[in-house]
Amino acid sequence: MSILSTLSDALPGSTFGPDTPEYDAGRTVFLGPGTPAAVVRPASADEVAEAVRTAVRLGVAIHVRSGGHGSEPAADGIVIDLSALCSVGLRDGDLVDVGGGAHWSDVADALAPHALAVTSGDTRDVGVGGIGVGGGIGWLVRTHGLAIDLLTEVELVTAAGAVVTANERSHPDLFWAVRGGGGNFGIVTRFTFRAVPVDGLVGGHVRFDESDVPAVLRAWRDITLASPDELNSTLLIMPPFGPDMPGGPQLGVALRGTEAELRGLLAPLLELPSVTDVSLAPLDYGDLLEAAPPGKPPFRFVGGNGFVPELDDAFLDACVHALGAAAPTMLMLRALGGAFGRVAPDATPIAFRDAEAFLVVNGVLDPGVDEATVADLQLEVGAPLDRTSGRYANFTQEYGDGVLATIYPPAVLARLRSIKAQVDPGDVFRPAHHIAPA
Ligand SMILES: Cc1cc2nc3c(=O)[nH]c(=O)nc-3n(C[C@H](O)[C@H](O)[C@H](O)COP(=O)(O)OP(=O)(O)OC[C@H]3O[C@@H](n4cnc5c(N)ncnc54)[C@H](O)[C@@H]3O)c2cc1C
Repeated sequence: MSILSTLSDALPGSTFGPDTPEYDAGRTVFLGPGTPAAVVRPASADEVAEAVRTAVRLGVAIHVRSGGHGSEPAADGIVIDLSALCSVGLRDGDLVDVGGGAHWSDVADALAPHALAVTSGDTRDVGVGGIGVGGGIGWLVRTHGLAIDLLTEVELVTAAGAVVTANERSHPDLFWAVRGGGGNFGIVTRFTFRAVPVDGLVGGHVRFDESDVPAVLRAWRDITLASPDELNSTLLIMPPFGPDMPGGPQLGVALRGTEAELRGLLAPLLELPSVTDVSLAPLDYGDLLEAAPPGKPPFRFVGGNGFVPELDDAFLDACVHALGAAAPTMLMLRALGGAFGRVAPDATPIAFRDAEAFLVVNGVLDPGVDEATVADLQLEVGAPLDRTSGRYANFTQEYGDGVLATIYPPAVLARLRSIKAQVDPGDVFRPAHHIAPA
């Protein structure tokens, strides 16, 4: 019997093959369409468990899809598309139960009437699943930490096809591993987060021309290091993309406070002569989230990401060096510290808690470029990356054991492998950042 017919027998009504809209939706991720044998769209945790048991019996690969913004297209096996598990329910004041296939827009929209939010990423269409098991560097990261720092419990389907609840008391090792170890430990069907108050938010952006980028970097650094946890910011420095999109730094900012307080905190930046536009106003948390681009941009990106332990002058000089590279280069710095830094480095698998910022730097090349040009550019844009302590899995699209060693310090990786050996000894779950059992 084929994979499709076996699954259809096990899960009639929830299994879809080629030439159905459900198959097309489930096989398509941000990076493009895959070619799995079947897409299963379970309606409950029990159906997820049945899909896992059936896939294990058939010996086929399992690809888990939540928002579809973090995975490679599935070349084979089955996709378990969690999009039907998208409910968001607030209970007991501030606990919010979120289905493993919800989008962050679902969470923001459901919590908005209560003036609550769960810090996520910066994008509406990204899935709760990938961030809930990966990290979540979002708009409230200095105030409340990562999305995983607000997790209090998960309901998860194990490799054995059992539905378990993991929290600090029940399956604590599994609960630790799931908060940053990615999809290696099971399929989360329900995340329970502690929502946080977001009334009285003010934010927006400040744009600058390209005349004095070093001054912008230094002023942003000084503000970031001196500011209260309530100030969150991202500094994005873009190359020019044609006359309608001039390059230059732009600061995105959010504060729980008043506009006067925000302007006071940002004063050294607002006084710079290179400021071209200031737009700051009261807003809702949901206003901070943007729509994702329609798909993978048609470029070859060279560079990477990393946690920045020290925003010292040498690091800022390296950023300026990268921005002067031979190809158009974009650089993003997100302010960390605050609540992110008060989580103990061994409390979750995301260990680089002393970081003052998170960096993404990318040189932009045509897809057909030769490898010598790629290598030269990597040297130039890599200058600030040399001053980072480790990488964030969810922004890292290179894979393998060498890459894993830059994402997790040795003790963390050893603990993850040991937990994997207990909960998934047969190595059923093999996401892109695959952690093999010890
Ligand atoms: C446009 C864009 C903007 C982004 N912005 C941010 C940002 O601001 N901050 C940030 O931190 N990250 C950001 N990211 C990165 C993002 O965190 C990852 O891409 C993340 O994996 C996306 O989650 P997803 O559910 O959409 O992806 P999916 O492709 O659905 O899932 C990715 C992987 O996560 C695992 N997974 C998903 N759901 C579950 C589940 N329920 N249980 C177990 N495992 C699961 C699976 O292994 C899956 O392969 C951004 C990505 C994009 C494309």
